[in-house]
This record gives sequence, structure tokens and C-alpha cells, in this order.
Amino acid sequence: MSDPLHELVSERAGQLEPPRQRFVLEDDTGFDEVPKKYRKFYRKWAGPDDRLAPNEVLCPVCKVVIRSTRELRPGDRVYCMPCMSRLIVVQGANGTLEARVAY
Ligand SMILES: [Zn+2]
Repeated sequence: MSDPLHELVSERAGQLEPPRQRFVLEDDTGFDEVPKKYRKFYRKWAGPDDRLAPNEVLCPVCKVVIRSTRELRPGDRVYCMPCMSRLIVVQGANGTLEARVAY
């Protein structure tokens, strides 16, 4: 329930999709802006050279890296707890995943 990945695009479309890679998140990334039990879902961004994993996306509002236990895909909805933003995952210009604010 606390996973930032709130809604998969395939669930919304009612489609089957190839299985998503699962990720095991370490307990605590040291990100202390959220309660301890949620810390594994967020980490500080190290800047433009920071390579994001397939289960990670950068919050465009507060520049925190949001981490899910599942691979993210374009159209997924994620929630950024530190800034309380609802986001949609999109394919960025250079092929990486980005997040946009959902209104
Ligand atoms: Zn945020």
C-alpha cells in the first residue's frame, strides 16, 4: 500500500502486459523527509549524472527520486510523498522515464 506506484497503466486499460521486473528495496536510503517506514521508497537525487533504475523516477517538483518495488512504465501513476504530488510516468526525450505532474 505504501508503494509510490499507485496505478499501473495496464490496470487502467484492462490489458495484460509482459510481467514487470520486481525490485527489492533496502530498508532505509537515509532519506529523512518521510517517516522511517517509507524511506526505502525515496532517495536523494545525485544530479544529472544520477542514473535511475527501471523502478525509479525523478519527481519534477521536489527533485526526489521515487522508487517502486516494480518496474515503472509510461502511463503509470505514482505518488510523491515528500511533496504530495500525484505524477504520471512518461517517456522522456532521451528514452528514459520522467514524471509529470497529474492534474
Ligand atoms: Zn516530490
